[in-house]
Amino acid sequence: MQLTNRSKQVSNTEMTFSESLYLPAILNGMAITFKHMFKKEATVRFPDQDRPIAPVYRGQHVLKRDENGAERCTACGLCAVACPAEAITMEAAERKKGEETLYREEKYAAVYEINMLRCIFCGLCEEACPKEAIFLTDRIVSAEDLREDFIYGKSKLVEDTQHRVDVTRRQTEEVLEFKHDKSKYHNQTHEDGKDIIHPWKH
Ligand code: SF4
Ligand code: SF4
Repeated sequence: MQLTNRSKQVSNTEMTFSESLYLPAILNGMAITFKHMFKKEATVRFPDQDRPIAPVYRGQHVLKRDENGAERCTACGLCAVACPAEAITMEAAERKKGEETLYREEKYAAVYEINMLRCIFCGLCEEACPKEAIFLTDRIVSAEDLREDFIYGKSKLVEDTQHRVDVTRRQTEEVLEFKHDKSKYHNQTHEDGKDIIHPWKH
């Protein structure tokens, strides 16, 4: 049975004297190796050397805090619904009196988990989020030995107030243009340090 049409007839002709010495073939191979020594390396010495990545590279997620340090996520579940890999799970809770500095909205995610083994880093959760709470970043998900270590909870996802995660590189011109379209208010909650007053809240 022929699986491909790339079959090649094997030659059974006798080797010439120079071929039987193998020297020309060895020298030819060494010449090719030598030539490549002066070419730009095609490989990157990761992890010692950083690989160049696109500004909108989709790596490990971050759950953002607002400018006052309160969690932006309101546990609306839109990211989980948008996720094609069903990688996101969450449990919502009501904000209690006195927790205004912890949670931006009256409802928040008491539990928020992403299964990094299921995630395909498509970025649809980021696009679906109406609160600009979840972003993918240029951080790489680290290798683990145990499957359960790939379930990232809030301790790994929510940004540390002391080490903010800069997502401004993801705000490409196209994204900013989209956000400045006032007919798409639902995609933006915050601009220039001030809350946007949504038209339907009047
Ligand atoms: S990046 Fe895609 S697959 Fe991963 S959690 Fe977000 S929506 Fe799901
Ligand atoms: S991250 Fe955004 S879309 Fe997901 S639950 Fe929180 S507010 Fe909703």
